[in-house]
Amino acid sequence: MPRSPRVPTLREPARRVPVIAEPDVLVVGGGAAGLAAAVAAARDGASTMLVERYGHLGGLATGGLIILLLTLDDGAGRQVVAGLCQELVDRMTARGGTHYPPRGEWDSDDPALVERARRWGLVWGSGPHRVRYSVAYDPEVFKLEADAMLTAAGVRPRFHTWATACVVEDGRITAVLLESKAGRQAVRPRMVIDATGDGDLFARAGEPYEHEQVHPWLWFRMAGVHEAESAPGLGRAFVHTLGDGHVLVTWGGEGRIDRRIDATSPDDLTHAEIACRRAAHEAAERLRATVPGFAHAYVTDTATQLGITESRRLTGRYVLGRDDLDHPFPDSIAVTGHWTKYACTYAIPYRSLLPSGISNLLVAGRCISVDHRVHHATKEIPACMATGEAAGTAAALAVRGNGAAADVDVPALRAALRRRGAIVD
Ligand SMILES: Cc1cc2nc3c(=O)[nH]c(=O)nc-3n(C[C@H](O)[C@H](O)[C@H](O)COP(=O)(O)OP(=O)(O)OC[C@H]3O[C@@H](n4cnc5c(N)ncnc54)[C@H](O)[C@@H]3O)c2cc1C
Repeated sequence: MPRSPRVPTLREPARRVPVIAEPDVLVVGGGAAGLAAAVAAARDGASTMLVERYGHLGGLATGGLIILLLTLDDGAGRQVVAGLCQELVDRMTARGGTHYPPRGEWDSDDPALVERARRWGLVWGSGPHRVRYSVAYDPEVFKLEADAMLTAAGVRPRFHTWATACVVEDGRITAVLLESKAGRQAVRPRMVIDATGDGDLFARAGEPYEHEQVHPWLWFRMAGVHEAESAPGLGRAFVHTLGDGHVLVTWGGEGRIDRRIDATSPDDLTHAEIACRRAAHEAAERLRATVPGFAHAYVTDTATQLGITESRRLTGRYVLGRDDLDHPFPDSIAVTGHWTKYACTYAIPYRSLLPSGISNLLVAGRCISVDHRVHHATKEIPACMATGEAAGTAAALAVRGNGAAADVDVPALRAALRRRGAIVD
């Protein structure tokens, strides 16, 4: 953990804080992982509340314009992520909000099919390439369907609210403190799921973690591209995306802004937002000036949140590492492929969602307990949804048990996940 520089302090006067809810399960963070966690917990009968600092669901998967699900397969033609992630794909597809290769094309090495997938940003890494089961989607359709899934499941959503602190008593989180325009409020949950991406809750609760500094990304979309399907460079600096004449520019700050940033530092984030936005617009200007078809193109939106791959990562009961490639675990609750590698899978053990200390806390999404290398696989949106679904299902089981995440009956958890269509081995 990094050491904070010495700063002057003041003592806050003690005050009484209104308790606004006492749910079975509180999910903090409404990204891909938090969405899946909350829906899973609520569908399993737990009264569930979800707190999100922004005004929509999806996190990086919508606000970050990371609008590619990479990947739902193992890179050998076999689907390894299904469950709520597949349900979301089906729902978005019913609204015309997706583009992906049909099942019959998965694993094909037909150069024409591979090239089409690459142009849509569905194939990455070094070749030789095959077609993957990856999905490009419209972020507005994601937001709409995510809202629908959440509300239909009976989750109580609370947007525009930050979770800022927690009260820990006898190894349990007994309250989570919230800040919003309504002031400081508290929630007293039985189980808590940290789906903040940055591990805000486990850090506040005193759990150990690794902390990375990264180059920020700022993906943006452009419209008005003439014959976008055949633009030179497609599949490299920019990819085709949904909407006539639209492209997604996968712009990154490495080598373009002066330093890596700590995504838990508001000062670093402020610096990066300003520097990246300016540089991204300059990049759009260069595309307009140099790439045929871009002469009348314009930026429709830059991501409303920086693309941060890593910040805090839990050091939990098990740290999934590189040597665990293709290794089965008796407590496996999800499987993920690798977006740049073929025929390569990691089973994710339940223990990677469990902190070693706090008994009623589970962690889901990009901040689960894995090492830096495996993080490249488990941070992907499908994998985040899979660990979210597992955390939500486990939290609902814990509520019916003794309230300790580590005491959840793992065979029962795996069976419950399979029943809802998730893939656990
Ligand atoms: C540049 C880049 C490219 C990527 N490319 C791909 C790709 O092509 N395909 C792919 O599948 N994945 C990709 N990823 C990875 C993927 O986008 C993320 O890892 C994934 O979306 C993380 O989901 P999450 O729910 O764990 O976290 P997040 O999406 O970060 O969600 C966390 C949520 O919690 C909220 N929150 C945070 N703190 C608090 C708090 N204290 N109180 C209340 N709310 C809070 C946030 O607002 C957010 O909504 C990429 C990531 C980056 C950065």
